Amino acid sequence: MTIIGIDLGTTNSAVAYLKNGKPEIITNSEGQRTTPSVFQISLDNEIIIGNSAKMASPGLPHLTIMEVKRLMGSEETVMAGNEVYRPEEVSAHILRYLKKCAEDFLGQPVTEAVITVPAYFSDSQRKATQKAGELAGLKAERIINEPTAAAIAYGMENIDKDMNILVYDLGGGTFDVSVVEIFDGVVEVKASAGDNHLGGVDFDNALADWIIDNYKKQEGIDLYSIGTAHEINQRRARIKLEAENIKKNLSVQKTASINLPFIAIHNNAPISINTSITREEFEDLIRDMILKTMNEVDKALTDAKLSVSNVDEVLLVGGSTRIPMIQQLVEQKFNKKAKKDLNPDEAVALGAAIQGGIKSGEIDSSQGIMVIDVCPYTLGTEIVKSIGGQNVPGFFDPIIPRNSSIPITERKVYYTANDYQTGVNVNVFQGDNPYIDQNIFLGDFILDGIPAAPKGEEAIEVKFSYDINGILEVEATIVSTGKKASTVIKSQAGVMSDEELNLAKDRIEKEWDQSDLYNEVKSVITRGERMLSETTGMEQEKLFSLLQNIKIALSKNDRELVKKYEEELTDLLIELV
Ligand code: AMP
Repeated sequence: MTIIGIDLGTTNSAVAYLKNGKPEIITNSEGQRTTPSVFQISLDNEIIIGNSAKMASPGLPHLTIMEVKRLMGSEETVMAGNEVYRPEEVSAHILRYLKKCAEDFLGQPVTEAVITVPAYFSDSQRKATQKAGELAGLKAERIINEPTAAAIAYGMENIDKDMNILVYDLGGGTFDVSVVEIFDGVVEVKASAGDNHLGGVDFDNALADWIIDNYKKQEGIDLYSIGTAHEINQRRARIKLEAENIKKNLSVQKTASINLPFIAIHNNAPISINTSITREEFEDLIRDMILKTMNEVDKALTDAKLSVSNVDEVLLVGGSTRIPMIQQLVEQKFNKKAKKDLNPDEAVALGAAIQGGIKSGEIDSSQGIMVIDVCPYTLGTEIVKSIGGQNVPGFFDPIIPRNSSIPITERKVYYTANDYQTGVNVNVFQGDNPYIDQNIFLGDFILDGIPAAPKGEEAIEVKFSYDINGILEVEATIVSTGKKASTVIKSQAGVMSDEELNLAKDRIEKEWDQSDLYNEVKSVITRGERMLSETTGMEQEKLFSLLQNIKIALSKNDRELVKKYEEELTDLLIELV
């Protein structure tokens, strides 16, 4: 059975599979090679994913959810219409659509995928992604890092070479940089660094703000403060969509025009924006963000113990690397042309498909490619320090240093801090700061039953195991008794519990059922609605009431009733023609 590779992006997603040992992109139901990661639920309960949803978003901002990847692993929820969704559910809808596209394309069921995540995704973000796969009916046993996937795709093409490559991956919402060594068919990540909140959507937002500020300066009108809240949301969505187009134009042109006709009405007069922006002006808006990525490049190089001159190739991945300033900065730094032979939008999905092939056995890892990745951040626990005879909590003690090769298991022994202490709360953090409040809290658990003894006499061994998917398991053992407590840092607030998962599974199935049912009868409803204006009297009344009935039946997801009204409606339309 084919294991597909999915690049689940902030703005765009892509799917690939292995065809005769080579990865190939799977086109979506609209024939496109990438799919905007946009979810919309129409007034008729039809689920719309991808380009149609993106294009319709300015008119329907309240029914559209975009950039949900930024919320994965958090406790935040999003709304479409009256429905509240967890980020995993929205991602699951996108994955379900991609699964369906792959099944139609391949002509066979698809139940397993390798899904990519930014290298810098935390434990809860990775788990949330796996759960989204599960909700979509896709087993996602393997989660791989996006820049690693791109390096695999590149490594496959250059299997006989020995070299150090630097993958600079700037997508829609995240930035990752990885230093990778390729030798004898092995793709070994030496170090990764990045920023989970830096990408093309931030450039779109900066440009949209510039458009608004510029108009305010020139005309004294704040376009984000006139009209109703709904109108402002619609305007915001329209300006953002236009900002993305302008940004892309500026990758090929020195000046781009900004045309937003009838963007608002003020004092009964329509407002239109007709202006332009130069590439330099745009570069000024994003310079600080780009410079931040260069700091991460330095950090990855330092961690990999390599200098700029040791890097043989620089690989640009992610749609945002089409911005000329980024290419110039990267090329200046490394004093060489960046590699652009892989399509920046597709490289990650292609690499994920290769990893899928390794997992399914389609690619023999003894002959083909072998992948070694790293844990990009430091993991550790909270410790108490004795300062001036006082126990002071809040200190971070690293257990797995960042950029260790994975899988990895590390152990550390701690001693009781208080006399007759019988329990300990193991707090787990990610980060590099000596203080826990500056790091990311991952989870905690209690180990009790420690024999009462003077402080420092009882030892507790803490074991951290970080697997190839970037999932962390922590175990603590009372050395004297052997009693253990452990957790697969499961009960994180930002990750769905098993109960929530089952409920969400049912809801997602129901929503797709409803959507499929609507799709089955959509054409007859459209024909009926069109015919309404061409009929009068009793005929019009009958038609109207049948249309009402079918819509009520649809909202109740009553398949039998919908089919009954569909038949009656079809018969009536034949009579009327
Ligand atoms: P990805 O997630 O890798 O597909 O990257 C998508 C991001 O790349 C989005 O923010 C796009 O707006 C951006 N992008 C795509 N093409 C271009 C381009 N020609 N110039 C600038 N940004 C682009």
